[in-house]
Amino acid sequence: MKRHTRCRSCGRRRKLPRHPDEYLTQPRCQCGARSWRVDSYRHRVELKQIRKGLGRYARCYCSGHALVLGYPHRRGSAWCCYQGSGEPKTLEQYAAEQKRFEDERIG
Ligand SMILES: [Zn+2]
Ligand SMILES: [Zn+2]
Repeated sequence: MKRHTRCRSCGRRRKLPRHPDEYLTQPRCQCGARSWRVDSYRHRVELKQIRKGLGRYARCYCSGHALVLGYPHRRGSAWCCYQGSGEPKTLEQYAAEQKRFEDERIG
């Protein structure tokens, strides 16, 4: 069974084909370590949310503000009109994102 794991050394995420304990020699991480732990939070909580499109993984089809989001995106992401909780974003949040957009365009 595939396992979502994290490197014990640097915290990098990786999907392994088997449970880390089943390896005689675990695959090497980009940081050089060979020590992976199962990311149980990802299995227990996040994968269910991803499959059902809940929580942070809720899909949103709004048209966005400042920049037109013409594609489904994660609710609460930049330019989305909503917060992750489903509440509309506040004017302060709009302004902060607008400012970031202008900073990025100039910088
Ligand atoms: Zn690592
Ligand atoms: Zn949206």
